[in-house]
Amino acid sequence: MILINDSKVKGSIDSVKKATLEMIESYIGKVFSPEQLVPKEIMDMIVLVTREAHREIAVFLDRRGRVLEIAVGEATTVSLPEIEGRRSTTRLCGVRLLHSHPGGDVMPSSVDLNTLRKMRLDAMIVIGVTDIITGVTASILDRNATGELTEVRVLGPFSESKSHKLNSIFGILLENDKNAQDLITSLDEGPEKAIIVGVLLEKQRNNSDEDKALSELKELALTAGAIVVDTVVQNRRSPDPAFYIGKGIAEELSLKFQALDADIIIFDDELSSTQIKNLEEITGARVIDRTSLILDIFAKHAKSREGQLQIELAQQKYRLPRLVGMGLSMSKQGAGIGTRGPGETKLQSDRNHIKRRISYLEEQIEEVADRRGILRKDREKRQVPVIAIVGYTNAGKSTLMNKLCDSNVFVEDKLFATLDPTVRKLTTNEKKDFFIVDTVGFIKKLPHDLVEAFKSTLEEAVYADLLIHVVDASYHNIDERVEVVEEILGSIGAGEKPEFLVVNKMDKTDDSFDFKPASKYGKIFKVSAVTGEGIEELRAGIEEYFAKTARNFTAVIPYTEGWALRFIHENGHVSSEDYTSDGIVVVGSIPEESYSKIKEFVVSTTNFDDNSMDYIKEV
Ligand code: GDP
Ligand code: MG
Repeated sequence: MILINDSKVKGSIDSVKKATLEMIESYIGKVFSPEQLVPKEIMDMIVLVTREAHREIAVFLDRRGRVLEIAVGEATTVSLPEIEGRRSTTRLCGVRLLHSHPGGDVMPSSVDLNTLRKMRLDAMIVIGVTDIITGVTASILDRNATGELTEVRVLGPFSESKSHKLNSIFGILLENDKNAQDLITSLDEGPEKAIIVGVLLEKQRNNSDEDKALSELKELALTAGAIVVDTVVQNRRSPDPAFYIGKGIAEELSLKFQALDADIIIFDDELSSTQIKNLEEITGARVIDRTSLILDIFAKHAKSREGQLQIELAQQKYRLPRLVGMGLSMSKQGAGIGTRGPGETKLQSDRNHIKRRISYLEEQIEEVADRRGILRKDREKRQVPVIAIVGYTNAGKSTLMNKLCDSNVFVEDKLFATLDPTVRKLTTNEKKDFFIVDTVGFIKKLPHDLVEAFKSTLEEAVYADLLIHVVDASYHNIDERVEVVEEILGSIGAGEKPEFLVVNKMDKTDDSFDFKPASKYGKIFKVSAVTGEGIEELRAGIEEYFAKTARNFTAVIPYTEGWALRFIHENGHVSSEDYTSDGIVVVGSIPEESYSKIKEFVVSTTNFDDNSMDYIKEV
């Protein structure tokens, strides 16, 4: 059935005679034999139109026998009208759908049956039409709520007595409606079923093939709690501005959506409000994009107040320009992927409300970030070197941190299991201490609003003395992931930081493993955070790096030796600078090789004491 919204009778108008259309239209709103499942007059009309136009025709009837809507269509597309009627969540919808199969097929198709389930129709009735009525099948949901269907079928030619047989369904129907709560629960249970859709651009085709193109989106969908029932990839030169994919593919998608009984369609890119609106219209499905999906996952994982504020800010910023587009996904369902959010996110459709909320969130985040800044300064004062673990999500950052620190950071084989930065103390064999910060995972096409919102969290990497960039050795395209992480590091201003590349999960590779990273990395370590392989070398490497590169000091520089202050600023790191009557008191760190130059002014080299851990707990 195709439904075109330009007439009361929806349909592909030119294929049906004007007189016929007018005739059909006259049926709308009229009441026909309420005691018959398939009123005779309607059956006659359906048969007539089907024969004349060689089209499917569908009639929506309520329980009083009133015609709510009629659709004339083509066999290639399925789209369903919004039925006014009983839309309570605990009952059937109170509407049955009668439609013809022009080829004479008496069996309902899987699309038909899924429509029955999805719309909670009272019944789905198929009328097989050739020169004669080949038969009629009425399907209703099974009253035992097993998810199976109950069917009554009569074969043609059609007669009064056969009509009575069909009416037997009414009894089951009423019984069903009483038990509808159970019926419907049994329909709704289980994870959301998602179809994922992506576009493969010409320039991407070289380094990733179709199979792998959407593997990450699939993982994301799993992480969000959905199961992926189908994957659609289209090769295109560029995304379509109106539909993202081609319109034809979008139409096919609508069929798939119905046939697979899916709940949601997820697209691999950020969509515009127009694209979302068009896609929802053409598919009849709830449509969300990669950004909403990621935001949804973050919303699920946000534990700290800061994390929750940041997520909500990103979500609100995402929603604001899209209020028009998000018809289905924002209104009806009210649950499921793309609708979750921390705190007060009652999907407000009021633009002003969202704007007020955004500025409130921004203020709050600033406050929290200020506090974090103060804590960070304190940490710096203690002159304990800070190492930030960065990397693609699921690379094994948290596992590595646990291995290095004997700590207990949450590890899960899911994307974004860690959202809030965690700080731990690492004590090396030499009894030297470091702070290690585990950061939020990076990901390709990380939503811009999210990067913005997470800036203060990601700043942990900016202020670190050393980055440990963890990459998953078992992933097929390591270079791409390394690149994504480098790009994000660059965008937050941490591109120039000294960086170790740690190739993790070596236990999952074999002898053929061959990865040649760019030469910019100071050092490359191959480890397994699970088996412990290579961890000691990494530990030693960290130790050596800091032993070599930095020495923490407090110095008093006479006002006459201004060059020394400049020298420290240029070559080292200054945590604080106080102008006193004795000179400038500088607390900082400086690479070992430069240390000798300022040695004469140094009054002490401070060591980390255990009290510093007090600060960690607050972070
Ligand atoms: P993060 O998102 O980067 O923090 O990743 P996690 O530390 O949460 O780890 C993601 C998944 O990878 C978990 O299932 C870990 O058990 C697994 N993992 C981490 N390191 C290794 C490793 O060296 N070898 C193997 N085989 N699995 C690992
Ligand atoms: Mg983690």
